[in-house]
Amino acid sequence: MNTPRSAAETIFFSDLHLSPVRPGKLRLFQRLLQGPARQAESLYLLGDLFEQFWAGNDDRTPPNGEILAAMKDCADAGPKCHILRGNRDLMLDAGFTAQTGWQLRPDKCVIQVCGEKVLIMHGDLLCTRDTGYQAFRSFMENRCIRRLYLALPYFVRILLSHGLRPLMRRSAAGKSPEIIDVEPGAVGREMDLAGVTRLIHGHTHRPGTFPVELASGTGSRVVLGDWYGDGQILVCNQAQWRLMTIEEYLREHAAI
Ligand code: MN
Repeated sequence: MNTPRSAAETIFFSDLHLSPVRPGKLRLFQRLLQGPARQAESLYLLGDLFEQFWAGNDDRTPPNGEILAAMKDCADAGPKCHILRGNRDLMLDAGFTAQTGWQLRPDKCVIQVCGEKVLIMHGDLLCTRDTGYQAFRSFMENRCIRRLYLALPYFVRILLSHGLRPLMRRSAAGKSPEIIDVEPGAVGREMDLAGVTRLIHGHTHRPGTFPVELASGTGSRVVLGDWYGDGQILVCNQAQWRLMTIEEYLREHAAI
């Protein structure tokens, strides 16, 4: 049974990389969305939901059917559900919102979390030293390229999307850790531009809370961990902000 909560809670998660290779993580995702997450006020998924690149609204590569069903059930049950695009889900569009009820939000999004103005992003746009990746992203974002890609037959899109994964892994393996991490100057610029002192993102797989030099003083950057390991979420209410594992959260709410 779920513990009822009086305080409004916002839950963030990122870099789930759900795949048939890790069925345990899919089960945790389902348990989270079927259980205590339904009592939260808002859920924010900050990108990279799938391990494989999302090939478009008809992509039913397993376990996508189960993922989408769990998301729809949760959104129908009450919490406001939001999703940002990660580098694995650049092709997400309004069709995904229609299928799941999860609102697709802009790549750079300023929201209120327990009365505080916060910037949320996937994180890839902050890795400005990785010029190869940024060029790839700009190419994929080109309106003509997107239209052309989405007009391809299903099997061609699947072949291309699934081919991108090993290609990106090889490309990332040849890059130094600094190149594939966020660039501090880019972080400060985005936060100053948004007028916030707190940023939440994922993507780098280096969880923690880090100080950021801002024009107005020192801010902080909260980085969510990926679900390759324990699987991490950020749970925020008026009293506290906590980075915790999904299992810790489920146990706390007696859902496992
Ligand atoms: Mn990513």
